[in-house]
Amino acid sequence: MNPVVLGIDVGGTNIKAGLVGPSGELVAKEAWPTEGRLGPREVIRRLAVRVKAMAERAGVSWERVQGAGSGWPAFLDLPSGVIEEAINLGWKDVPVAAWLEEVLQKPVAVDNDANAAALGEAWIGAGQGAGSVLCVTLGTGVGGGIVFNGALYRGASAMAGEIGHLPLKPEGEPCTCGRRGCLETLASATAVVREARRRGVASPPGGPAALTARDVFALAAQGHPVAKEVVEEAASWLGLGLAAAANLLNPEVIVVGGGMAEAGDLLFVPLEAEFRRRALPRVARFCRLTPALLGGSAGVFGAARLAWQRVGR
Ligand SMILES: [Zn+2]
Repeated sequence: MNPVVLGIDVGGTNIKAGLVGPSGELVAKEAWPTEGRLGPREVIRRLAVRVKAMAERAGVSWERVQGAGSGWPAFLDLPSGVIEEAINLGWKDVPVAAWLEEVLQKPVAVDNDANAAALGEAWIGAGQGAGSVLCVTLGTGVGGGIVFNGALYRGASAMAGEIGHLPLKPEGEPCTCGRRGCLETLASATAVVREARRRGVASPPGGPAALTARDVFALAAQGHPVAKEVVEEAASWLGLGLAAAANLLNPEVIVVGGGMAEAGDLLFVPLEAEFRRRALPRVARFCRLTPALLGGSAGVFGAARLAWQRVGR
């Protein structure tokens, strides 16, 4: 009767859930479309049906499940467990922690998705064993999380780790947050595509509108000079942002994840060079910059870790 917890990673497109043991053993895992348009009540009701069926199929009795952790693509009020706003889902003022506890009949922990992913990488991923981990996720936006001694550092209003909104270029492009020139406007997949289009990088058959960051990285890998320039610029801005964050936090490890991190050396070589050029030498020397290890599962493991912390283990 080994105890497990439920880790739930809610994304704008898909929900992933797993049953996870106390040392990060994955017992079962499943994913399904979020269907946020159905509204939070229905999404949470369906979620409960899914995870109970998953446990049953895995031969895990519901009594063995100690609690649940969940990461949401949202700004949350953590003490009350309420989603203040989930822009991608179009939800506002949703008491997710209370609703999940009601349908699961278990203690529930909540946090934002980037924090959950950071905690997962720090627990059993690329940051395992390090006392201080800064985790950055490069996707449509740039997310982040800070883990000290195995626990998330959240700050006064759960906004700590929002590295994507480091203001690096005062008169830069408008950001989703309403400000200008944030790291996210310079080093996200969105920024790479915007710059590639602006500089006329040859588009795929679907025309300029179909160009993706993956296309730009593929062209750069083939030696396309403008695509390469775009990728190197994004990597440099990221190196600058990470250096600023590292000088403040002095982390042992910086984990870089998300779709863009899969580009490997194409991203990491210019990123590492700029980071080492910009960070204080004593900060850079004691800091390891590394790709994420858990891929798309980081959020599930991190949510599971939140659940273990919630139930006191
Ligand atoms: Zn911003």
